[in-house]
Amino acid sequence: MARERVYLFDTTLRDGAQTNGVDFTLADKLAIAGMLDELGIDYVEGGYPGANPTDTELFGKDRNLDTVFTAFGMTRRPGRSTSNDTGLAALLDAKADAICFVAKSWDYHVKVALETTNEENLASIRDSVRAAKAKGREVLLDCEHFFDGYKANPKYAMACAKAAYEEGARWVVLCDTNGGTLPDEVEKIVGEVVKVIPGDHVGIHAHNDTEQAVANSFAAVRAGARQIQGTLNGLGERCGNANLVSIIPTLKLKPEFAERFDIGVTEGALKKLAHVSRALDERLNRAPNRHAPYVGESAFATKAGIHASAIKKDPTTYEHVAPELIGNRRKVLVSEQAGKSNILAELDRVGIKVDKNDTRIGRLLEIVKEREAIGYAYESADASFELLARRTLGKVPNYFDVTQFDVNVEQRINAKGERVTVTMAVVKVKVGEDNLISAAEGNGPVNALDLALRKDLGKYQKYIAGLKLTDYRVRILNGGTEAVTRVLIESEDERGERWTTVGVSANIIDASFQALMDSIVFKLLKSEAPL
Ligand SMILES: [Zn+2]
Repeated sequence: MARERVYLFDTTLRDGAQTNGVDFTLADKLAIAGMLDELGIDYVEGGYPGANPTDTELFGKDRNLDTVFTAFGMTRRPGRSTSNDTGLAALLDAKADAICFVAKSWDYHVKVALETTNEENLASIRDSVRAAKAKGREVLLDCEHFFDGYKANPKYAMACAKAAYEEGARWVVLCDTNGGTLPDEVEKIVGEVVKVIPGDHVGIHAHNDTEQAVANSFAAVRAGARQIQGTLNGLGERCGNANLVSIIPTLKLKPEFAERFDIGVTEGALKKLAHVSRALDERLNRAPNRHAPYVGESAFATKAGIHASAIKKDPTTYEHVAPELIGNRRKVLVSEQAGKSNILAELDRVGIKVDKNDTRIGRLLEIVKEREAIGYAYESADASFELLARRTLGKVPNYFDVTQFDVNVEQRINAKGERVTVTMAVVKVKVGEDNLISAAEGNGPVNALDLALRKDLGKYQKYIAGLKLTDYRVRILNGGTEAVTRVLIESEDERGERWTTVGVSANIIDASFQALMDSIVFKLLKSEAPL
């Protein structure tokens, strides 16, 4: 069978920007567009020129991308001519390779929302496509509410799609705007559409309101559609859009699709997918979803001892694809249920060579179990586990000692008469023969302590210069007066590598201090800092 091309259209910067709490700056948009371009996405929808200053500026710039950079906007307003519609004019003037129009395709919306006639809506579609074609742009039409519209009035929904196709739109995109359509309905309706409009001109735009946006996208491809619209990490309003980060590896790695279709994403680019997904979260200042398919930290993690020993023999026993293909990695969790095989598998993964009959393994297992019983969570804190293992095996140098620290929190009225809380930390460190003292102010006690601790480590300072904290999570365990605080700290270095450390204590500062110390020592170890 001849291979066919499936095109990927990313709308993270337009539909994804509708997500609650997401607000892209111009710099964010340019960086994300660059990432999508490198990944090999065919179309990147940048935004809505004319609708807000950021998007107008974005579309005024030269961007130098291979992807088809697409502007989004509405078809001409009812009762206006194309030359007398300022919104349309901004869209036609934008520096875009393609224009994606959105138009109503449900007669009910034409009447109620647009307050016009079915005929005028069709004329608006035709006129707008024609005007963009005349400007030399590739044209797409998003048929809003297509599936609901089709169920209510198939003839009219089809007339909207056909009007765009007949005027020369490259793609007619069927949108499940409310996200409530189910895969079998999508497959059936797309099957009807491709009898009239060739499938290689038909796209799918699915929302995730029944958690089936990805399944709906594949249902459309099965029925003949050849463009999939979606967003990175499934960003989008309400429950999000179809998640391209799940769609791409399925297209590349699952035989049903991989044997029939080519996409613009190469095998090499696929290996960057986990990184791209995390880089977007980083930009949005969100903790990545550990359970995200393919790219999540837990996507290839296994806990029970029997699975771990089987995975060590042959990974395909418990993995549906190899994690390295999408730039992820296998992880064997060390936990209360841990057997010796988990510990051995994890030591192997972090590159600690040890004989499997070494008696220290049993000792390490005991320590892990004891500490997990009092609240440590090593399955979430890989770096603290590695340090604990290396310490038990006698392989961690004593780089420095914190001989004393002091954290002071003070609330007072400042010179302007405002009530302010000021936090200050002082740390005394012994590095070799040197005694160092650092002080720092922070926006809270842990922040001040962190800043003071990393301010001056003498000869080790250069090794931790690129270290930064990216996430800080606190959990109170077993409540009441006996409450214990567990702190998990995620750190990142100048190469973008990340690790997590843990601290446990009745005192939150103390728990944070342990996790901070582990992070710094781990970084020194990774950087092979000399003693
Ligand atoms: Zn949408």
